[in-house]
Amino acid sequence: MSTEKEKDVRPSPQAPTSPKYLWHNGKLLPWETATVHITSIGWTAISAVFEGIRAYWNEVEQELHIFRLEEHLRRLANSMKLMRMIPPFSHQELKQAIIELLQGNELKEDSYIQPLVYFSGAVPGYRAVEGQPAEILITTRPAPSNLNSGRESHCCISTWVRIGDNSMPPRAKCLTNYQNSRLVSTEARINGYDSGIILNTQGKVAEGAYACIFIVRDGMAITPGVTAGILESITRATVIQFCHEVLHVPVQERDVDRTELYIADEAFLCGTLAEIEPVVSVDRYPVGSGEEGPITKATERLYHDVARGLDSRYTSWRAPVWQG
Ligand code: PMP
Repeated sequence: MSTEKEKDVRPSPQAPTSPKYLWHNGKLLPWETATVHITSIGWTAISAVFEGIRAYWNEVEQELHIFRLEEHLRRLANSMKLMRMIPPFSHQELKQAIIELLQGNELKEDSYIQPLVYFSGAVPGYRAVEGQPAEILITTRPAPSNLNSGRESHCCISTWVRIGDNSMPPRAKCLTNYQNSRLVSTEARINGYDSGIILNTQGKVAEGAYACIFIVRDGMAITPGVTAGILESITRATVIQFCHEVLHVPVQERDVDRTELYIADEAFLCGTLAEIEPVVSVDRYPVGSGEEGPITKATERLYHDVARGLDSRYTSWRAPVWQG
């Protein structure tokens, strides 16, 4: 029997916040017309891969630019390769599709873009074979930046262990890997923390639930290496480049022990959606002074200025959508 309450919680196909269009297999489609048969729920997701990309609005110039689009599309191609998917569209076609979608949705604010690639046809994702056709869905939504907002995170070490390269490779941005991230973030929030940090199968620090991690010790920025069970984060690569080329902070990519987080001078999470997120305590040990540290602050400011186009360096990282 269906109750009034059950009726209330069913989402309408067009929630009030839905954008006008999404992009599916080469076409801009009105949001409410993009439906699939109910029997495909879940199965296509098993080998689906995706990306999370940000676009930053510059209010003064009235311009929107996508940040590091080339790198995100290259990682999407790598994720498809690991899943043995044949890319249904070229790098250039996807780039154009994302720009057209943002324009079609008339987004003139900070936005998030999510391309999702999945095996098509009646075969469930877990039985998909090499060469099976794949489809792409791209969605966008407004996503205000938190940079320079004073946000601070209290983290814990999760009791969950990071998935490994020989079981569910974290290097692939595969939808199913996110069960691992979800367990970490849910546990952290239930226990009163903002977010969780996860150790890998070797017991070393891997990353946050949805972001990579840096610590600062004695003026050195330290981050787990790309073989530590992390997603090869584009923001992590950006921060490393900033440290070398602008901030003149030496960087070490190496194993990080859990207790190094407790005695670090500074710590921050980094990711496309997380951006630069200062970590001020881990397992209730204050990190450094218990406030955002100077290297974190400088990194956050620089990231903001470059991504929003207030700093004229690294312009090749910004793909124009609307340009004044
Ligand atoms: N690790 C995980 C598990 C993530 O989900 C993300 C967010 N994509 C990151 C790291 C950070 O990656 P990026 O900087 O490329 O967004």
